[in-house]
Formats: sequence, C-alpha cells, structure tokens
Amino acid sequence: MNAVAGDGAHAGRSANASWYARAVAVTPGGVNSPVRAFGAVGGDPVVIGHAEGPYLYDVEGTEYVDLVCSWGPMILGHRHPAVAEAVADALTRGTSFGAPATAEVELAEEIVRRVGPVERVRLVSSGTEATMSAIRLARGFTGRDKVVKFAGCYHGHVDALLASAGSGIATFAIPGSPGIPRAQAQDTIVLPYNDLGAVERVFAELGPRIACVITEAAPGNMGVVPPLPGFNAGLKRLCEEHGALLISDEVMTGFRASRAGWFGREGVVADLFTFGKVMGGGFPAAAFGGRADVMDHLAPSGPVYQAGTLSGNPVAATAGLATLTACTPDVYERIDHVADVIGAEISAALDKEGVAHRVQHAGSLFSVFFGDADVVDFDAVRASESYRYPPFFHAMLRQGVYLPPSPYEAWFVSAAHDDRAVDRVLAALPAAARAAASATREG
Ligand SMILES: *Cc1c(COP(=O)(O)O)cnc(C)c1O
Repeated sequence: MNAVAGDGAHAGRSANASWYARAVAVTPGGVNSPVRAFGAVGGDPVVIGHAEGPYLYDVEGTEYVDLVCSWGPMILGHRHPAVAEAVADALTRGTSFGAPATAEVELAEEIVRRVGPVERVRLVSSGTEATMSAIRLARGFTGRDKVVKFAGCYHGHVDALLASAGSGIATFAIPGSPGIPRAQAQDTIVLPYNDLGAVERVFAELGPRIACVITEAAPGNMGVVPPLPGFNAGLKRLCEEHGALLISDEVMTGFRASRAGWFGREGVVADLFTFGKVMGGGFPAAAFGGRADVMDHLAPSGPVYQAGTLSGNPVAATAGLATLTACTPDVYERIDHVADVIGAEISAALDKEGVAHRVQHAGSLFSVFFGDADVVDFDAVRASESYRYPPFFHAMLRQGVYLPPSPYEAWFVSAAHDDRAVDRVLAALPAAARAAASATREG
C-alpha cells in the first residue's frame, strides 16, 4: 500500500474496495468488530464516510437507509442536533478528568429516574464491561460461582459468557471461542432459551452454587426472539427462591424498547440490570445498576473491585444524557411505528413470492426468520432457512438499504427514519423478496 491509496480510487479500484484493502492489511479481517465484515452474506463491506439522520454515506458518496443504527445507539438518527451541540459544548470544558464530574452524575440520575428498580448505577465504557462487572458483583455478593445463561443470548465478549453466544459466534460458526480457559467456562451453565423447566431442573440440582441467571431482557442477538409470557417472571421467582440474583441484560433493549427499556414493558424486577448502546448516544458509555444493597458491595463502598480510567467520561456521558433527554414519548411512538410498517411490508413482500417466514418483534427491534416454524430458541434459529438471507441482503444493499450483514441480528430503526427513508425501504422489498425466493440451500 502507498500514499495514493489515501485518495480512495486508484489502480482501477473503487474507493470502497481500496479503503477495505487498506483495512485488511492492518486490522484482522479488516474490521474492529467481526459482524461488520460481510462474512455471513458474502462480498466486501462498504466503507462509511459520513452519516446524517437515517442515512449512511459510503466513501463513494452512495446513500443508504441505515437499518443498523450502529447496532442500536443511534435511536435519534445520526448527527442529531441536540446531541451534536451538547458534545461540542462539552468539548470546550475538557475531555477527561479522572475525578468526579457533573455529566456522569446527571446521566446516572436519568437512568435511575427511568428504571425504577435501579437504585444505584456504575458507569463503564462498554456493554461487555457492564455484564462482566455485574457477574463479578453477583458472585461476590452471593459467595457462589455458577452462572446460568441461555443459548443464543449475547452478553458481550466476556470469557464466562461466550458459550452459545448467538449472532457473532453463530455467524462465524465458532463453538464458543478458543482462548477461554476451561475453568472459566466450567462455571457457566447454558440452557435453552424460553425453557423454564430447564431452569427449574438446574436450580433443583445446583441451587446453592448458582450466583446468578443472566438473560437478555428480550433477546436480539440471535435475531429477535422475545421471551414467552411469564418466562422472565419465572426466572425472577426461581432466583428468589434459591438466593441467586437475576441479571437482566438491557444493553440492546434499554431505553429503546420503551423509555424504561424492556422493564418498562414487562415490569419484571431484576436484581441487576446492564445497559449500553442507546445510553452512550454513539460514544463508549455503558452501565450496570440495581438494588442498592447489592450495588453497595462494589468498591469503594464494598469489597468487590471494579474500576475504569474513562468510566463516566464527560463527553460520552454528555452525549448519553442529551440522547436520553431527547428520547421523548414521540420518539418511542415513531420507532415503534416505523418498525411495524417495515415489518408488515416485509411480510407482504415475502408472502407475495410464497416465501415462508416469521417477522418477530420485541418493541421496535425486529428481524426476519425464513421458514415455517415459530422461533422461540436458538435451535429454532439455527434450523431456519438462513441461506435465503444473503441474496435478500444484497438486493437491499444494491437498492440503497443497509441491513445487518447477518441473518442472526436485529434490525434497528431511529426516530429520524422519516417517510422518505421508510418509503425507500418499502420500495426495495419486492426485489429482495424475489431474491430470497430464488435462493437455494447450496447458494
Ligand atoms: C451489544 C450487547 C452487549 C455488548 O456490548 P458492547 O458495548 O458491544 O460490549 C451486551 N449485551 C447485549 C444484550 C448486547 O446487545
């Protein structure tokens, strides 16, 4: 590679291809998070130059309606004026202090105001850190080691939680991950999602050794597989009966499924909650919080250690606070409506081509499964006709709609998705449905 590549188009290559080649030369697989590569759909990713409202623009200036929204954070759309102004203002006051500051207090207060059972909250820099810390706290609080998780639920790339972790792992067919000591994985019990009987049996056998059950409040990392009625409440009951903690991972659903996340829809009171994505407003900020008596076990008030140089970073906290402040009831109405409209039109387009499918929703999160069966767990996800997704995806991309480059991911919309953006998506669906219809298992 040479300096000319900086111009983008050289040696007959498109600017996208040229930038991606440079990325591949210096970054494993050309990406800083695996699902950004097009491994599950084929081809090379487009490289983004800028974004505005509901649109992404690649380095060649091609416009795409963005149905990934940075995997959740951009609930207001890109470059929302209130967020951009708050960040610009924060930058005039300094970018990191390593001492208590105002923005982190205000963001924590907003989280506590929105999610009733969260009495105390600790800010961190990623969802991974939030779930990792919540599990350490649950183990420290209970004095127990075992963690129960569900197949297909993703909680970040925490060693103890990567077993059967849904999309990223499923996309690349990695059984867990090399590099995780057996001892780490040994204390993780993986159960089928939505199977309360399996949870009952494991508690009957190992109850006194189980520190916590961690679950996505409504899973969106194996595609969208909402909890069956009573599932989360049943987890809460079993945890209570056996002295374990329930950790509700709302990194994806938090402040998106409603102003109080999935908790705001279902009302199941977990002991600990984890947040990320929306609450960072496009910056690295995440959090875990919950019952005061549990949270007070954290250093410096308690013995369980947890820390971070950039935790509560003032710029990130300001972006998060500005985002949550702008997430008014009309924002939730809009994203729910847009998700319903697009979901219904996907179904109509696929029905027209005779393609059996399910569009599954959890609030404004939704995804498409090809095939006849209801999808209630990860086995059903894997049994679906995912080979229909790559041609569907590429047909949408060619028509200027950017979908998650994996059949196992949720689709995300924003309040900036206006009628023009939605109409562009709807107009692209018939051709994508035809592509899905003509897909064959062999590709
Ligand atoms: C995205 C996600 C995480 C991990 O968050 P990162 O910020 O990517 O580390 C954890 N849990 C859930 C449910 C997520 O969707």
